Amino acid sequence: MIGLKVKMYSFSEAQLQRYSRNILLKDVGVVGQEKLLMSRVLVIGAGGLGAPALLYLAAAGVGTIGIADGDRVELSNLQRQIIHFTKDIGSGKADSAAQKITALNPEITVKTYNQFLDVTMIRSIISDYDFVIDGTDNFSSKFLINDACNLEKKAFSHGGILGFTGQTMTVLPGQSTCYRCVFQDLPPVSIQSCSQAGVLGAVAGLLGTIQAAEAIKYCVGISSLLTDTLLVFDAKTMRFRNVSVKQRENCECCGKNASISDLKYENYLQKNN
Ligand SMILES: [Zn+2]
Repeated sequence: MIGLKVKMYSFSEAQLQRYSRNILLKDVGVVGQEKLLMSRVLVIGAGGLGAPALLYLAAAGVGTIGIADGDRVELSNLQRQIIHFTKDIGSGKADSAAQKITALNPEITVKTYNQFLDVTMIRSIISDYDFVIDGTDNFSSKFLINDACNLEKKAFSHGGILGFTGQTMTVLPGQSTCYRCVFQDLPPVSIQSCSQAGVLGAVAGLLGTIQAAEAIKYCVGISSLLTDTLLVFDAKTMRFRNVSVKQRENCECCGKNASISDLKYENYLQKNN
């Protein structure tokens, strides 16, 4: 039987070995693995969340992986951004991450965008992918990714980390609660980010890994996703909470009379108070 399936999907012997633990899963199998190899996932931000996400996506055999990051590797990143090594300090993060995942799995296609995605090009880049992982570290980017993904009807995983805590949610545009439904608008600049408040590296690893699992489930077609639910994790108490969230009828992005029909630069600026 396996031989027949193998012939149908023309997996090489090496592929069968590489992906055997995926293929053994009843919910994946050869059909699911073929879907993964045909899938395209974009990871925005090759930092604390993006690092584990990229490694697991590549290892699982997601056929095309995009990496968008305009930053360069700094010494202070290495505490949590485990895809970058000491020798990479000064290199572009997208290139550094691409090197690692290509070494891990040379048969996947990796595309790099050495820039911070903004209103001018984010939609056209996103439109090339099936699923997007938000691994960014600032609110402007998170709202921008939410709105762009909703406009392009692309599923995405939101992730955020701060201190010992993290949160994540999967959004299926047109079907489930969006990031703006929950958080409404950009907070003032006084709200701390992980660059100011610190973050435990392992928390980033955990959340980025959950985001990769959601991407893989979506690509394979496993439907029980983290939609309409904000998963909140606290490493101090080691508690996970699943907070139910609902679509807001008057959400500016996905509500009945949504006002966001295109992306405007001024909508993604954090105000001072
Ligand atoms: Zn919404």
